[in-house]
Amino acid sequence: MKFSEMIYQRPELETLTAEMTALTARLKDADRYETAREVFLEKEKLDKRVQTQATLAEVRHTIDTRDAFYDEEVKFWNNAMPELQEYAQAWTKTMLASPFRKDFAAEYGDLMFVNAEIQLKTFSPEIIPELQQENDLTQEYEKLLASAQIPFENGVYTLSQLSPFKNDPDDGRRLAAWQAEGGWYKANQPKLDEIYDKLVRLRDTMGRKLGYDGYTELGYYRMGRNCYTKEDVEKFRAAVVEYLVPVADSIYKEQAERLGKSYPLSFADAALEFRSGNPKPAGSADDILAAGKKFYDELSPETSRFFRMMLDDKLMDVLSTEGKAGGGYCTSIPDYDVPFIFANFNGTQHDVEVVTHEAGHAFAAWMNRDRIPLETVWPSMEGCEVHSMSMEFMAWPWAEDFFGVDARKFRYSHLAGALTFIPYGTMVDHFQHVVYEKPEMTPAERHAVWKELLGVYMPWMKLDGEIPFYAEGEGWQRQSHIYSSPFYYIDYCLAQTVALQFWAMLQSDRSAACPFDPQCLRSVCRKAKTWLSEYDLSGIR
Ligand SMILES: [Zn+2]
Repeated sequence: MKFSEMIYQRPELETLTAEMTALTARLKDADRYETAREVFLEKEKLDKRVQTQATLAEVRHTIDTRDAFYDEEVKFWNNAMPELQEYAQAWTKTMLASPFRKDFAAEYGDLMFVNAEIQLKTFSPEIIPELQQENDLTQEYEKLLASAQIPFENGVYTLSQLSPFKNDPDDGRRLAAWQAEGGWYKANQPKLDEIYDKLVRLRDTMGRKLGYDGYTELGYYRMGRNCYTKEDVEKFRAAVVEYLVPVADSIYKEQAERLGKSYPLSFADAALEFRSGNPKPAGSADDILAAGKKFYDELSPETSRFFRMMLDDKLMDVLSTEGKAGGGYCTSIPDYDVPFIFANFNGTQHDVEVVTHEAGHAFAAWMNRDRIPLETVWPSMEGCEVHSMSMEFMAWPWAEDFFGVDARKFRYSHLAGALTFIPYGTMVDHFQHVVYEKPEMTPAERHAVWKELLGVYMPWMKLDGEIPFYAEGEGWQRQSHIYSSPFYYIDYCLAQTVALQFWAMLQSDRSAACPFDPQCLRSVCRKAKTWLSEYDLSGIR
C-alpha cells in the first residue's frame, strides 16, 4: 500500500486505556500458558495499532510542520503517550509477575523480560507532567530549527538548504555560508539556551523523583542499555582520546596541507576535504534512487525486493521542501509491515547516505517485521546503527554508480569521515555527562564545558571570532540529539567502531568485534590509517 493511502485516525484515549486495563486483568487471571499467550498476542496487536497511528501523525507532521491538522495530532500524542505509559507499566508488571514467564521466554526469548525490568526503572505516574513538558520542549526546539529562514546571497534558505554552501569549494562563499548559519543560531541563542536549561532541570527532577542521584542513571535506563554501563563508556572514551584523536588529527593536518590552509582549521575549512570540492553525487535525486535500486538489486534477492517495495509504495520522502523538519530518520509503520524513510536531499554526499544508511535501518526493520514482541523489531540504538553504518561500507563497490567521477574522492572521504566522526560523537556524549552531573550550571557555563572538550577531542579546530556561534565553541546547540535524545549519541560511536570492523573485514581481514575492547579501536585505527596514507590522491586533491 502507498504511504499516502494509509489511514490516520486519532483513537479515543479512554478506549485505549480501557483496552489495556482489560488485557492486563485477563493476563493476571490466565490459569494456563495458552490463555496468557493469547492475551499477550492481542496486546501485541494493540501496540502495533497505537504505534502505527502515532507514527503516521509524526511522519506527516515532519513532512510539513506547517500542517495544522497533524500539528494538533502530534500534540495529542505528546500528551497521550506519557498517560498510556502508566497502563503499559501495569501490563509490564503483570508480565514480570506471570507464572508463565519461563514459557514466554522459551517461545519469545527472555530479552523482553530483561528490558521490562529496565523499563520499570524509567517510569512512575509521578513524572507524567515532566514527560509531557519534555515532549513539548523538544518539539519547540525542532520547530524553531525548522522555521529558520536565512538570507544568503540573493535568496532565503532553511538550515538544510543552506548546508551545501557550507561545503562550497570557494573559500569566500563557504565562509559566508558558515557565518550566515552561525549568525542565525547566535540570534536565536537566548531561546536555545532557555529550552535546554528547562530540559536539563526537568530531566534532573525526573531522575530525583524516581529515586536516582540526578538524570544520568535514568538516562541510561531510558536508552534501554542492558549490557554496558557508564564505566564501559568511560573506557571507550579514553581509547578514543588515545588512539583515534591522533589519527583524526593527522587527517586534518593533511587536509590543511591539501587546501593550502594553516592548521588548526577554521570550521569552514574543516568542512572542505578537497581543494577541488567535496565528492558530489552524480545526477539528480532520481538518479541517486536509481543507483540505489541497482545496488540493492545486485547485493541480494532480499535487498532487491525490499528496495523495490520502498520505491513502489513511496515509503521515502527525500526532497527538501519548505516547512519540512530537518535531518533524516527511518521508522516503522507496524500495521503495514513497512519502514519509512524521511530525508532532506541537498545535493551533497549526504543524499547517498540516505539510500545506504537510512535504507540500512529500513532493511533490518523489514527483515524483522514478523518478530514478536514488537519492541524487538528494532534492537537498541547501537545495534541499529551497526546495520546502517555497515550498509554504507557495503555500498563501496557501487560508489561509481552513486558518485560517477567523484567515486575515488568518496571512498577516501567516507573512511576519513567515519574516523573523524568518533571523537566528535564521543564529545557529544561526554558533554551530556557533565551537563547532567551539574544541572545547576548556567547556559554560559555549559558553553564553556563544550569549548573545553573541543580542545580535547577536536584539537584541529581553530576557535576564534571569525564565525559567530561555532568559533565561540557553542556549536552543540545545533546537535538535536542533545535536546531530544539524551545519551543517544555514543551509540553512533560504538556502532561506527563495529562498522569500521566490517569495513576492515570487507578489506579481507577478520578481527573480533567488541567496541569496548581498546585493542579493537587500536587495530581498526591502524588499518584505516595505513589505508588512507597509501590512498592515491593524485588528480583529486
Ligand atoms: Zn542511523
